[in-house]
Amino acid sequence: MKIVDIRATTVSVPLEAPLRHSNGAHWGRFVRTIVEVVADNGLVGLGELGGGGESSERAVTSLKQYLVGHDPMDLNALQFKIMNPTAGLYNNRVQIHAAIEFACLDLVGQLLGVPLYTLLGGRLRSRVPFASYLFFRYPDRDGRGEVRTIAQLLQHASELKDRYGFRTHKLKGGVFPPRYELEAYHALANRFPEDRFRFDPNAAFSVEEAIRFGQAIEEVRNDYFEDPTWGLNGLRRVRAYVRMPLATNTVVVNFEQLATNLRDPAVDVILLDTTFWGGVKQCVKAAQICETFQLGVSVHSSGEVGIQLATMLHLGAVLPNLTFAADAHYHHLRDDIIEGGKFSYVDGAISVPESPGLGVKLDRDKLAEYSAVYKSLGNYPYDRDPGRPEWYSMVPNTDWADPNVGLN
Ligand code: MG
Repeated sequence: MKIVDIRATTVSVPLEAPLRHSNGAHWGRFVRTIVEVVADNGLVGLGELGGGGESSERAVTSLKQYLVGHDPMDLNALQFKIMNPTAGLYNNRVQIHAAIEFACLDLVGQLLGVPLYTLLGGRLRSRVPFASYLFFRYPDRDGRGEVRTIAQLLQHASELKDRYGFRTHKLKGGVFPPRYELEAYHALANRFPEDRFRFDPNAAFSVEEAIRFGQAIEEVRNDYFEDPTWGLNGLRRVRAYVRMPLATNTVVVNFEQLATNLRDPAVDVILLDTTFWGGVKQCVKAAQICETFQLGVSVHSSGEVGIQLATMLHLGAVLPNLTFAADAHYHHLRDDIIEGGKFSYVDGAISVPESPGLGVKLDRDKLAEYSAVYKSLGNYPYDRDPGRPEWYSMVPNTDWADPNVGLN
């Protein structure tokens, strides 16, 4: 099998409502680049990448010069062709490699007639549990879906739990003053006395604010405290004062950083992102190192549609040490670009696909529909807040949004 062509199409898939975070917001949609790697036997492998537009599509398709004629089974060579770490000083292609790797794994699975999890050594579970990923939200264009007050947050969380069956809840903070988010987190913990919780302010707190917040939630049934502050050194200081595991998806996202964290621990749980780490195989390797050193792992979400979600499901299926519910933004999406529509949740979990490869196929009509939406709406600035046009994020944040003020 040889690669003969690579296609990239940007789509914009609507969210139920804009999701707020410490850097700004997802403005009511996810922009993703859908990658198709075509083989000489007619098979098409699927990949996915965050962001989009002409430059993103070109960054993918320009790799034809490296990849046409390459055998998708040669995954180790692929890694060095695309993301050799020393060449990467000049062209950081970690995330593009991930998208191409997803597609190559999809091709190999299809050729052999086996699901991706079989290529990774076989599944240990057939369903992957997910956390309810709770965001403060702006209302949608029709004025619905706002999550700003604590009453709105509790109602939103209850609706998600009723609809999807979540038993773990993650609150994305870093938006409103820490005292307000502390009250919100405690309110959630009191509302669902049987469930587990995690809080993630996207590294917006100072070290001292993180220590104050962490100490104030020590009695909650916490999985972990995720990126309360920025940097390995900051996290190390928080860890010395707060009695719960710390987790990161920001400052341990490669093997160099993982080694540093093992020599001088700053976090206890590594959140593996199939895009940030450069592919599924990289995540499996990182999880094996974490298993050896008894660090926790979970599956991180950087905002996915169904192709990347499939990679997260296959990863979750094969990790022996997946002791936490995975994260996904997926339930905030209104639709998907895969055949059959969105994956469904049962009792807070999604079944791992059984069809060969990733186990998902493109719905060409949906691809065309959401490609047209992208062409009409374009990109959005992830690091700006639509409710505060003059504001920009700082680390640590010292200028919180006012919970009494919504979007006009
Ligand atoms: Mg995070």
